[in-house]
Amino acid sequence: MSRLSLILSRERAFGSYRPKAFDVSVPRRATVTPPLKGAGRSCQTGRSVRMELTDVGEGSRGVASLRDIWNKRKDDMRIIEHASEMQQQADKWRREGKRIAFVPTMGYLHAGHLTLMQAARQYGDVVIMSIFVNPAQFGPNEDFARYPRDIERDVRLASEVGVEAAFIPRVEEIYPSGFQTYVDVTDVTTPLCGRSRPGHFRGVTTVVAKLFNLVKPHTAVFGQKDYQQLVTIKRMVTDLNMDTEIVGHPIVRETDGLAMSSRNSYLDASQRRTALRLSRSLEAAQHLVEEGEQRSDIILERVRETLEAGDGLRVDYAELCHPETLEKAPKVNGPTLLALAAYVGSTRLIDNRLLLPKTLS
Ligand code: AMP
Repeated sequence: MSRLSLILSRERAFGSYRPKAFDVSVPRRATVTPPLKGAGRSCQTGRSVRMELTDVGEGSRGVASLRDIWNKRKDDMRIIEHASEMQQQADKWRREGKRIAFVPTMGYLHAGHLTLMQAARQYGDVVIMSIFVNPAQFGPNEDFARYPRDIERDVRLASEVGVEAAFIPRVEEIYPSGFQTYVDVTDVTTPLCGRSRPGHFRGVTTVVAKLFNLVKPHTAVFGQKDYQQLVTIKRMVTDLNMDTEIVGHPIVRETDGLAMSSRNSYLDASQRRTALRLSRSLEAAQHLVEEGEQRSDIILERVRETLEAGDGLRVDYAELCHPETLEKAPKVNGPTLLALAAYVGSTRLIDNRLLLPKTLS
């Protein structure tokens, strides 16, 4: 089965994917406490859980105290903060013949992330997730500093879906002083988000390459929500002969169609309603295509009309492209990616859908 038919069969199988119910209704809480210098070391035998507790309170990770989180945990999910410890543990699992499935995230978990972690279970004996808000993928005027963070809640949610370990490194652990090596995937990062976020994908591929070297996953699961990211990582893995299978998972949506995103937390009630125009415009496009329309300009006109039906939304891009090369598609006469990015207030949201012409849908 080709990659594309795999995507198609999954899209078909999942349709408009809805997750099972998750307990994500926990109130948001800031967990910022002062640094814990020299707090010592905690060891737990049994499942060999161990964590360094020195100097864990820096702001770069947005947490405050891994020790607090550690103390409150009732399960045995392992929290790893050091690169060397992550590698040693990955080597140990591999020596034991265990397959490692990995879900990298920037945290502030929602049901989309948790669904990826559950899906990862079918690919691994151990499921590892990472939380790392990667400064290298944010532009100077983007939301790195205010990106939502709640590691305590994330750790609890991940452990509730059975994740074995959370890798939560500090920025200095991933980018120590003297760091100067980057991974750059060229063509597929040029259009769409690559145009409006210069340097973004270089940051993504660099951190994912590093995370793969630390977590040593047999399989890594990424969401199709960040479709261009998924294509870019598949390209990197192929081009650099990385020994990790990349699996794309369908977009998880709220019941009204809004694609789940950590950034949805920036939206007030009125912006939340406005944001629904993204998923509605994707549906409008699919309807047009099912009626037999193939001309990209006509389809994109309908998309823009739907997006711009009212105030409060500024389109960054709306494009039809080939689902693997991401080159512009002049016609929708085969599976075609409709990719959107729009600002609702100052919040930049993305969404996408694979449009299937009548014969394929
Ligand atoms: P992030 O924390 O936003 O970097 O996302 C971490 C992973 O979760 C990425 O592979 C995303 O594509 C994926 N993801 C985020 N939101 C969704 C969603 N609504 N549905 C499916 N996957 C998602």
